[in-house]
Amino acid sequence: MNTHTPTPIQWHFAERAQRLQSSVIREILKITMRPEVISFAGGLPSPDTFPIERMQAAFDKVLSTNGRVALQYGPTDGYLPLREWVANSLSIDGVTISPEQVLMVSGSQQGLDLLGKVFIDEGSKVLVETPSYLGALQAFSVYGPEFVSLPTDDGGLLPEAVETLGVGARLLYALPNFQNPTGRTLSLERRVALVDICARLGLPLIEDDPYGALNYRATPLPTMLTMHPEGVIYMGSFSKTLTPGIRLGYVVAPQPLVRKLEQAKQASDLHTAQLTQMVVHEVIKDGFLDQHIPATRALYAARCDAMLAALAEFFPAGVTWTKPDGGMFIWVTLPQHIDSMQLLDAAIAQNVAFVPGAPFYANDPVRHALRLSFVTVTPDRIREGVEKLGKLIAARL
Ligand code: PMP
Repeated sequence: MNTHTPTPIQWHFAERAQRLQSSVIREILKITMRPEVISFAGGLPSPDTFPIERMQAAFDKVLSTNGRVALQYGPTDGYLPLREWVANSLSIDGVTISPEQVLMVSGSQQGLDLLGKVFIDEGSKVLVETPSYLGALQAFSVYGPEFVSLPTDDGGLLPEAVETLGVGARLLYALPNFQNPTGRTLSLERRVALVDICARLGLPLIEDDPYGALNYRATPLPTMLTMHPEGVIYMGSFSKTLTPGIRLGYVVAPQPLVRKLEQAKQASDLHTAQLTQMVVHEVIKDGFLDQHIPATRALYAARCDAMLAALAEFFPAGVTWTKPDGGMFIWVTLPQHIDSMQLLDAAIAQNVAFVPGAPFYANDPVRHALRLSFVTVTPDRIREGVEKLGKLIAARL
């Protein structure tokens, strides 16, 4: 028998680890897994859109024809045919993106972490939209930046603010299409102005674009990447166009930066799974996404319309909301005295959930806003959930 008394371990975490926080959304998701809850909380794509049979056939084909490569270690920058596909998909007349500019990552969330790792020192100035994607704030926070919140209006961020706030900054993180959390889109004029100011300041501009293909009202606007490939770091993902479970995204950047990100990625996971990259390439190589995405857009547009109609019917005067042209989110602004965190407690008691707005702010959290995600809920449940929320809000006026 072991007789010595063990010394209790003091878990002495690194300072960096003390900055890690659980995402509020992931915590809420645990509650909303209950089937009786009408959840507008998750940022999950609709599982009805997952091409399960197509994926299954591709797994079979890749494993039976090329199993030894698929199950082996692979290169850090990714599976070349897939990098070629990505480069092609982003090239336009007059601007060619090369495969050497593409780094495959294990979800674009990993891209955010790698960017934080290679760019952010303690106190580095990082410009973000107000509000911004919570997962990016979480990824960058670990590296101790000083977040500078850029002013925004209904049309997204105001480029002219970057003229002064951008001086001496390391990065600007922007979400031009159907932004998470607001659903807003940055106009062509603002894209041009933003790219121009960042280029003049020599400020790297991150264009995070996981929702760009999910446009269901207007024609898509050009990427900022194609306006200035030397200064824009573009991030894309297969999570919203195919499935998030495969954890596959990409970063497109000038070659010296790709090489640096590659070193950071090597230290973190050697490479993204070769098997899933080969399977995704097998699925998409002959134009599958062109047939598949229109159905996803139609489904999301119908659910967005159902939610907009329900909001107009059930939300009291004094509440406003965005009207997205694509993506998965609507942002609601309540009268100033209503705290969306308290509203959430009341909503959960009635089996309805959403994400309170405060965690999406890098500075000065706004407590009277909230995010609604509409894509995983059927139109009749959307109506039922919005009606309940409307009553809870009206009771607080
Ligand atoms: N960026 C934004 C704006 C997102 O909304 C998400 C997913 N919620 C991600 C990045 C991460 O996506 P993934 O890692 O699944 O590619």
